[in-house]
Amino acid sequence: MVKRILVSGATGFIAGHTIARLLAKGHRVVGTVRDLTDQRKLAPLRQLPGAAERLLLVRADLLDDDPFGLHVDVDVVMHLASPYRLTVKNPQRDLVDPAVQGTLVLLRAAAKSASVRRVVLTSSFAAVSDAPDGRELTEKDWNHHSSPTRNPYFFSKAQAEREAWNFIAREKPRFDLVAINPSLVIGPAKSAVINASNQLLVDLVTGKYPAIMDLTFGIVDVRDVADAHLAAMEKPQAEGRYLCVSDRLTMADLVAQIRRLGYGQGKLPRLDCSGPFGTGLMKLLSYSQPAGVGDYLRSHLGRSLRLDNGKIIRDLGLTFYRPEESVETALADLSNWGHIPAPKANTKSH
Ligand code: NDP
Repeated sequence: MVKRILVSGATGFIAGHTIARLLAKGHRVVGTVRDLTDQRKLAPLRQLPGAAERLLLVRADLLDDDPFGLHVDVDVVMHLASPYRLTVKNPQRDLVDPAVQGTLVLLRAAAKSASVRRVVLTSSFAAVSDAPDGRELTEKDWNHHSSPTRNPYFFSKAQAEREAWNFIAREKPRFDLVAINPSLVIGPAKSAVINASNQLLVDLVTGKYPAIMDLTFGIVDVRDVADAHLAAMEKPQAEGRYLCVSDRLTMADLVAQIRRLGYGQGKLPRLDCSGPFGTGLMKLLSYSQPAGVGDYLRSHLGRSLRLDNGKIIRDLGLTFYRPEESVETALADLSNWGHIPAPKANTKSH
């Protein structure tokens, strides 16, 4: 059945794929954006098949008083807008307020609407943990460690999701809430903009990392995250939170794959600091990094990450690209957009 869906943060990396899928299925989409004049971000959306007839773009900033009031005459709300940056000047103002207030304002607007039946909230693995400890993490886990001064982006996501569930418990609206909690999302982009997670690949390929560290990433492909949003909307049985992750990839494996594919020649880190001594050294050096990056390194270096993606596979029928496929596709896409140099054929092993 054709539905009307409000997608907040329509210009975002994940939102682009989500909107493309919604339009492809014949749905009508209202996408909210901050700047209706930014052609670099808006043109790719307007060019999606079906957009001319069924995509309406409207302006909404999460920090406005009632940004969504007029636009929630829809069946489903997908809330993707949230600032995603590790380092900001003022964590409360730049991350926590837009994440938390934006979520609450949208939930209040949805509660006033007679038509909304479900809200799909794009939360994050950041709301599950910022200090993996080798235990297998599931939807039952919550990040209680982050704060405005420790991993503030993580805190903004945890706090926004917590407030959303509190809102549902307190207000008992007509709609239900489903949260999607993706790990690090990579993959092809619908526009020339590089979001914070693909930026990790750009930074590796362009030589921003001096050494290979003992870091493990949970990886998920942007196309799978978009599928998860649609499944969360479509499946009546969807409930609660869903960890959305394919598998883990260590920094060493990631660098080795990038090298095999011929990217970043001469720029990829070679110094191996992934042993206990290197981890200690990197923790010390992390204090010379911008606050958000330093926090992230200190809370993740040397920690073993295990994630259980069983619930999303069982309930929503999701399948996942392997992390290596996502890395390869993301690199090819970044190269096509001109963000990184084209790969060189590898004639010898490094
Ligand atoms: P992007 O940075 O590409 O998208 C973020 C979107 O939020 C943009 O559309 C941005 O608008 C919008 N936004 C930011 N601040 C505001 C504001 N004050 N008012 C209105 N809109 C705002 O990120 P992703 O697509 O990667 O992320 C989308 C969602 O997924 C976010 O909620 C993020 O936290 C979550 N997520 C992402 C992960 C990842 O690895 N990428 C992992 C887990 C969760 P504008 O274009 O104007 O800046």
